[in-house]
Amino acid sequence: MPVITRASGYCLAAANSPLEPREIDLPEPSGEDVIIEVAGCGICHTDIGFARQGIPTRHPLPLILGHEISGRVVAAGDAARGWLGQSVIVPAVIPCGKCTACRAGRPTICRTQFMPGNDGDGGFATHVRVPSRGLCAVPDNLPAALTLDRLSVVADAVTTPYEAIRRAGLSADDVAVVVGAGGLGGFAVQIAAALGAAVAAIDIDAARLELASRYGASLVLNAAAESEKGIKSAVRSFVNLSGRAGIGLKIFEMSGTVAGQATAFALLDYGAHLAVVGFTVQKLELRLSNLMAFDATAGGNWGCPPEQYPHALQLVLDGKVQLEPFIERHPLDNAAEIFEAVARHELKSRAILVPGPVDVSAG
Ligand SMILES: [Zn+2]
Ligand SMILES: [Zn+2]
Repeated sequence: MPVITRASGYCLAAANSPLEPREIDLPEPSGEDVIIEVAGCGICHTDIGFARQGIPTRHPLPLILGHEISGRVVAAGDAARGWLGQSVIVPAVIPCGKCTACRAGRPTICRTQFMPGNDGDGGFATHVRVPSRGLCAVPDNLPAALTLDRLSVVADAVTTPYEAIRRAGLSADDVAVVVGAGGLGGFAVQIAAALGAAVAAIDIDAARLELASRYGASLVLNAAAESEKGIKSAVRSFVNLSGRAGIGLKIFEMSGTVAGQATAFALLDYGAHLAVVGFTVQKLELRLSNLMAFDATAGGNWGCPPEQYPHALQLVLDGKVQLEPFIERHPLDNAAEIFEAVARHELKSRAILVPGPVDVSAG
């Protein structure tokens, strides 16, 4: 393989400025580090948070953003030689594996974690350097409709809802309510349906709801057209008709909006579980005592432990989670304008930046 010494990408030089092209040096990796030739990197709302909402990156700017990466290992340190040539998905959160949190089975709260595009240069680039621990191997022979660049969204948009659903203990006995059927929510609906749960989706966008109904939601509710009371009673009827014996709704807040969070919280009922997956800096006033009154639980998750990635990937490889209707791919060269379009909420699907020509042959 040719020696890679430079990468080109798009960096955030300062908050509230457009992404700028940037060249970086890529010294030969040592130890367990690898260099990945990026196949695709999804744009996440966390990136928008760094660039536009005053959320600081842990590594000082300028920094190449992007933490939703798939690609191929093209250089490896001594301790990572086995990865050479392997196609991989890079976990959005790469835990250290050694600290108290990691040893206690809570790797997503590891304080010495490495998140590409936050702790170091990320995946809006031709190449990225990451630790090899936690990499998720992707088979060379992919199903016909899939390509490695498309699988980048497994790094975050699929695995983060997957982990929320796993922690909720969702089973075929349960009813899942997904609030916000956009990027993450579209995958959450499919994962919940794949586990056999009865799934309701709530959004304010009719097109998203239509998509959710085609990919696993048996009930869709438009929060722009229904009152909170109307939504609650529709969900209650859905639970009764579902024939599911599970105790308590499993509610997944994926919208990252105050309105979505208010709807999700209002749905709390006896024994319910509320998982917060979407992010907003805005605040919401609510009666927290409802948790006590309903003997309910609420939780959140920062990404997904690397050991869960193969399970989430398998759902995609098995066709139980479809990517194509929920993604759109763009050349990395257009990173700056696509990033602005995402920030302005103009795109309907998860945007993936693809270095080099965008292959339209598959999918
Ligand atoms: Zn993200
Ligand atoms: Zn750790």
